[in-house]
Amino acid sequence: MAKKTVANLTDAEVAGKRVLVRADFNVPQDDQGTITDDTRIRAALPTIQMLMDKGAKVLLSSHMGRPKGKVNETMRLTPVATRLSELLGKPVTMCSDCIGDAVANVVAGMGNGDVALLENVRFYAEEEANDPAFAEKLAANADLYVNDAFGTAHRAHASTEGVTKYLSPSVAGLLIEKELDYLQNAIDNPQRPLAAIIGGSKVSSKIGVIETLLEKCDKLLIGGGMVFTFYKARGLNVGKSLVEEDKLELAKSLEAAAKEKGVELLLPTDVIVADNFAPDANAQTVSVENIPDGWMGLDIGPDSVKTFQAALADCKCVIWNGPMGVFEFDKFAAGTEAIAHTLAELTPKGTVTIIGGGDSVAAVEKVGVAETMSHISTGGGASLELLEGKVLPGIAALDEA
Ligand code: ADP
Ligand code: MG
Repeated sequence: MAKKTVANLTDAEVAGKRVLVRADFNVPQDDQGTITDDTRIRAALPTIQMLMDKGAKVLLSSHMGRPKGKVNETMRLTPVATRLSELLGKPVTMCSDCIGDAVANVVAGMGNGDVALLENVRFYAEEEANDPAFAEKLAANADLYVNDAFGTAHRAHASTEGVTKYLSPSVAGLLIEKELDYLQNAIDNPQRPLAAIIGGSKVSSKIGVIETLLEKCDKLLIGGGMVFTFYKARGLNVGKSLVEEDKLELAKSLEAAAKEKGVELLLPTDVIVADNFAPDANAQTVSVENIPDGWMGLDIGPDSVKTFQAALADCKCVIWNGPMGVFEFDKFAAGTEAIAHTLAELTPKGTVTIIGGGDSVAAVEKVGVAETMSHISTGGGASLELLEGKVLPGIAALDEA
């Protein structure tokens, strides 16, 4: 069912109201506390801007890092407030706490359209424990709630789930709305042919998504470290490649399920193998039947890239989660980069391209084609859980449209 969003709120519901917005400002910083990537801050701007335009008093909240329930000077949100005020072109008041009088005093001085940022909610252990009393304190300084933190929507924390019990309406922000539009829609109302490309290191971390996508997809392309578990299950020699011995039966049953459901399951036919796990390892391209003893597969080979490209060419929607190889090493990045370029070429031709997963998104950004894709998910774990068909507590708790 569709969730009510910030765009559904009338001006009267918002003007002059204190709106608590949970955003995901968990941005990377260098040793000097300089933000090295502000993508997540920018992703929250449309919701913030819309609330400012409607005359809200915008109270932003977020976590940063893993302070484990204690104040940690290196995990304060002050650099985020500075960056935000540059992006919004207006001052953003930094609160010294996320609950209590420190917040109430700031709010008392706010005018309509003003913005303040609460301190890191994870400075309290009660946040991750989803403590009701803490959620009530967070809610005490606000009238209504907007959740725009897609990256933490799969966690039931006080600021993502608990707080909805004390604030009404509780609605989705524009970022969460966009994430759902793409990710949920892709599997609920598939545009066919629908292809999923699944990679990454382990089968075990992608079982759920493979099983769900087998029910939805027309084609399933598998790359990354997990292919060797499939090969070993077929009886091939995989050398020193990554194999999950306890997932061999599962790999067999996934192949059988694909056959039964008529899903075209594509595994690479050639791989690039290395003599050790290192950026400067010796490398050679071999067919999957000829992986030498002592070597490990770290990327898909050029023939596989061609086969994958051909399979994707007629697809109306492609979901990609997990790199095709160890793209962090330049020598083993070609397969991942080729797939990124392929999707970038398909997008303007009308294919909906959706990239989910932290490392896949990093790969697409490294190649420089992120702007071209239809949707780059801002939540690694959250997008995976959504594609697995799981209920995300931070979204489930919001009002229905
Ligand atoms: P995502 O974050 O996009 O969901 P994962 O976290 O599942 O992706 O997997 C990404 C990791 O998988 C990368 O660090 C990459 O180096 C690793 N990987 C890919 N192919 C292989 C391989 N053949 N052997 C070992 N590791 C691999
Ligand atoms: Mg990852």
